Amino acid sequence: MHLSPIGTILTPYKEKFAIPRQPGLVSSAVGEIHLFDDYADPNGFRGIEQFSHLWLLFQFHQTADRGWSPLVRPPRLGGNAKLGVFATRSTHRPNGIGLSVVEFAGLSTTKGKTVLKVRGMDLMDGTPILDIKPYLPYADALPLAQGGFANEIPDNQMPVSFHPNLAPALAKAEQLHPGITELISQVLAQDPRPAYKKHQPQIQEFGVKLGAFNIRWQVENGQSLVTAIVPLN
Ligand code: SAM
Repeated sequence: MHLSPIGTILTPYKEKFAIPRQPGLVSSAVGEIHLFDDYADPNGFRGIEQFSHLWLLFQFHQTADRGWSPLVRPPRLGGNAKLGVFATRSTHRPNGIGLSVVEFAGLSTTKGKTVLKVRGMDLMDGTPILDIKPYLPYADALPLAQGGFANEIPDNQMPVSFHPNLAPALAKAEQLHPGITELISQVLAQDPRPAYKKHQPQIQEFGVKLGAFNIRWQVENGQSLVTAIVPLN
């Protein structure tokens, strides 16, 4: 079997660190799927606006060369407990295929280029998209389904604030990337720190590239304080 991507998604997540662990957790994240020429025919998308949500099938291209193993350590369990790869949504799996439900946010076709806008994805910038299908509530939403070790949406949202000195930088950033404040808040509220760091009492500093910015923040006493927002060149 040979799979070839139908397009690439552009997202604000420029590195794996701090990408939400599942879709829908950061609702303000907007992505654009740029279809390759062979799949850009608008006929292929006729009727798609009837659906509020779509399934994306994609390749975990950043971890594709690491292979897979039968046992993995889900971060949700603190990174120590091992479970079978097929009992998790780990990226380290045979065929390296990811599956995410995202919000449909628009379709445009101009000069032969087709772009599908989506919201709330958990995909890294540049991820190859293998297929797109509508989400069917009657078949795909199962209110009685059991979610095992990940039954509930993580409820431990971390409070996030911005250092008062950042007001001018934040205003400038908003002009370049409307909604960046909300995006940063929602991403950091997920507390993307590695599990082993979560029990360390001292002030910790982190940085991540988000959209067109380098974001730096500190974690102290269970709260995040954003200390820098620097435009990438
Ligand atoms: N919702 C998908 C699924 O269940 O198949 C992905 C779940 S996986 C746990 C989500 C994580 O995959 C993100 O937090 C990010 O670290 C990682 N990720 C996202 N895009 C990736 C890519 N293109 N290559 C490798 N890892 C990626």
